[in-house]
Amino acid sequence: MKLNIPMNIMSIETYKPGKPIEELEREYGIKNSAKLASNENPLGPSPLAIKAVKQYLDKTNRYPDGSGFLLREKLAEKYSVKFENVLIGNGSDDIIALLAHGFLRPGDEAVMPFPSFLMYEISVKAAGGVPVMVPLKDFAIDFDALIDRITKKTAMIFLTNPNNPTGGYFFEKDFSAFIEKVPDDVIIIVDEAYIEFVRDKRVFNSLKNPLSDPRIVSLRTFSKAYGLAGFRVGYGIMDKEISEILHRIRQPFNVNLPAQVAAAAALDDYEFLKKTITETHIGLDFLRTELEKMDLKVLPTQANFFMVDVKRSASFVFEEMLKHGVIVRSMKSYGFATWIRV
Ligand code: PMP
Repeated sequence: MKLNIPMNIMSIETYKPGKPIEELEREYGIKNSAKLASNENPLGPSPLAIKAVKQYLDKTNRYPDGSGFLLREKLAEKYSVKFENVLIGNGSDDIIALLAHGFLRPGDEAVMPFPSFLMYEISVKAAGGVPVMVPLKDFAIDFDALIDRITKKTAMIFLTNPNNPTGGYFFEKDFSAFIEKVPDDVIIIVDEAYIEFVRDKRVFNSLKNPLSDPRIVSLRTFSKAYGLAGFRVGYGIMDKEISEILHRIRQPFNVNLPAQVAAAAALDDYEFLKKTITETHIGLDFLRTELEKMDLKVLPTQANFFMVDVKRSASFVFEEMLKHGVIVRSMKSYGFATWIRV
C-alpha cells in the first residue's frame, strides 16, 4: 500500500520515553533497578489517591464525568479561579496538543526554547504549525532571543519553568519584562510541570497571581510531585475564551475515571506532597555533593532532576549504568554528547 503521508507528519520524530523498568530487568536479568529517567516520583503514588481509586474501581463500567466536575472544582478553589478557567487533560501532554490543534493554522509559528520538552515540537508539527526553536543561553531560556524570533505568524510561545531537560529557571522580573514585548494576540504557555520542587522564592510562579493576563496559559501536572504519572492527569489554568476552544476539540472523556478520582484525592494529600519535596531535595543535594567530589559539573536546578557532564560519552555511561540497574537519560540526542539527565 502506498501511503500518502502529509509532510508535517513525516517531519515528526517519534518521542522516545525513558526505558521502562520491566524492559531493563528483562533484558539484563536484574531486579530492584532504579528508574531515574523520566523525572517521576520514586516514593510511589499519593497514598490518598490510591485509597480513593480503590473505592471507584467497581464503577468503571460507566464513562467518567466528561466535564471533570469534581477535580476542576477543586482546582478552581485551590487557585481562586472559576470552574471555566480550569481544563484537565490526559496528562499535560494532552493539553499541549489541544493548544496546538486549537490555535495553529497551517504555517503558523510556535516559538519555543531548545532544548526543552519535546512534545511542544511534536504537537506543533502534528497540527501543521511551524516550531521555531530558540537555543537556550547558559542552559536557561533566552528571552531576548525569543522576542527576536516573534513574527506576524507567531501564534504561541512555550516557556518551561523549570526547564526540562536542563533544570534552568527564570524569575518573576524576567517574565514581566518579557510579556510586555509580546504581541497581544500571542498565547503564552507557561509549563510548570516541576514547579512544586522549586526552592528559590524568586522563581516565577504563574499561579501566584492566576489569570493576570488573558494571554497566559499555565500548565501543571499530577505526574511528578503527586506521583500519578501512570494515571495521566494534567491541568491548565487559562482565560475562558481559550478553554472554550479547547473544549470543542478535546475528546469527550479525555481524563479517565480512576485518574480523575486519584488526582482529586492527591490534591488533599499535603503530607505526601511535603514528603516528596523534602526527600527529593535531600536526594538532589546528596547527588550533587557526591558528583562534585568526582569533579563533575552539575547544572543548577530547581526541578526534581539535574543534568551532569560526565566528561565522556553519555551513551557509554548510560549503557554502563543500565548494567547496574540504574536508568538515566543520555542527553546526546539533545546535542549534549557528554551529559546525562538524572
Ligand atoms: N511538561 C514538561 C516540561 C514535562 O517534562 C512533562 C513530562 N515529561 C510534561 C509536560 C508532560 O507531563 P504529563 O503529560 O505527564 O502531565
